Amino acid sequence: MHVKFILPALTEAKSPLFRPIKYSLFPPLGLATLAGYLPDGWEATLEDDHVEVLHLDDTPDIVAIEVYITSARRAYALADHYRARGAFVCLGGLHVTSLPDEAAAHADAIFLGPGEDIWPQFLKDFQAGQPQPRYASVSRTLEGMPPIRRDLIKRHLYLVPNSIVVSRGCPHHCDFCYKDAFFAGGKHFYTQAVDEALAEIERLPGKHLYFLDDHLFGNVRFANALFEGMRGMGRVWQAAGTVQAILRPGLIEKAAEVGLRSLFVGFETLSQENLAEQHKGQNLGRDYNAAIKKLRDCGVMANGSFVFGMDGDGPDVFERTVDWAVSQGIETATFHILTPYPGTALYKRMKAEGRLLHSDWDRYDTRHTVFQPHGMTPEQLEYGYWRAYREFYSWRKLFAGASVKENLPDRLRHLAYAGGWKKFEPLWDTLIRLKRVTGMLPALEQVLTSFGARHKADLSPRMPPKQRLQHLPLVSED
Ligand code: SF4
Repeated sequence: MHVKFILPALTEAKSPLFRPIKYSLFPPLGLATLAGYLPDGWEATLEDDHVEVLHLDDTPDIVAIEVYITSARRAYALADHYRARGAFVCLGGLHVTSLPDEAAAHADAIFLGPGEDIWPQFLKDFQAGQPQPRYASVSRTLEGMPPIRRDLIKRHLYLVPNSIVVSRGCPHHCDFCYKDAFFAGGKHFYTQAVDEALAEIERLPGKHLYFLDDHLFGNVRFANALFEGMRGMGRVWQAAGTVQAILRPGLIEKAAEVGLRSLFVGFETLSQENLAEQHKGQNLGRDYNAAIKKLRDCGVMANGSFVFGMDGDGPDVFERTVDWAVSQGIETATFHILTPYPGTALYKRMKAEGRLLHSDWDRYDTRHTVFQPHGMTPEQLEYGYWRAYREFYSWRKLFAGASVKENLPDRLRHLAYAGGWKKFEPLWDTLIRLKRVTGMLPALEQVLTSFGARHKADLSPRMPPKQRLQHLPLVSED
């Protein structure tokens, strides 16, 4: 039996705005995870449309395709292609969960929600000759998960082959986020067992890790245990977390001690009114400046995430946001146009208010305005979004951001990291074309390692995970 896993390219990949490096960062971990459940003796292949040319003339028995909103068109075309060739086609992922009926027209079976419980059930049904047309995840757990089939990942095609996910979902409920729709009908936040997560980390070669969890710090007990267990591993790593988690006493400090060097932080907006409207309660009333300062004191770089177009935003929001981010010395910023994804609370509200402009999913990519904003025109919103990017990553602003740092080495690292990400596009493109992007990993490790060098080093002796876990302090959860 041959199962082929495909991650289709976002439609953006065919546009002139496409930045190849953005999609050459992380391998398709979710599909490699599902491959781990295949019975012994089954053959598996994994192809990522973003970084390789798909082989479409093969004849797998089962094709499993992960569908995002902006890759839906391409995913459906691939699904139709393989059904015509006689394969049993499975579609799953965020977009399938949001719009199951749309996806079902192109699939033999669709999968709603996370796949860890429903994919094994499907495999059993398929072997019994009774596959169902629809599987919906309810009983969720990561306990006893088989090892991810990392052998299927073509590591040399990615800058960050060592990406890892040790939890699913997030404890919060922001209106614009896909999370609640994807995890509807069951637990919306759960983690691996700590020793299984540590074992997965141990299996990864080299030094650098990128945790792709929505909120690695969402369960404080788990996060503390994980960081305790990582003592002595000598890793440098990046992750995502909230302002609330940063400000919690002791948590980020412990993460930094065991190698955290950059954090993706969802600031989203500087407006309290906007935060309340989007039900982003965990950010309400938090001191953003204090959070940035704490990260800097711990030797952790910040990648600030900001969303434009909430109802409290007027045409001045772009300049105000960029100026604040620069004044705080944030190293990198990611900007988004507010996007009402189907299935979210935001989508329902926009639809009820008659503010959705169209349902061309290709443009639901956080770069286009797909709804009628309150405080400006759709054109102003798009123009301001692009201007924010241009401004933040202008050399003038990069130097201004770097000048906030206390000493010359930190200023130089700021310029190397922020400039390297946005200012050397032709270099990235060349490396990707030559399939040499992984060759830049040592440089990334070097910048990340040196960024934390003046801070407390992790000199703890290495102990077996089980032994280390016995010494954990008991802490409350978020
Ligand atoms: S904190 Fe982030 S991951 Fe969690 S619900 Fe909000 S936007 Fe989604």
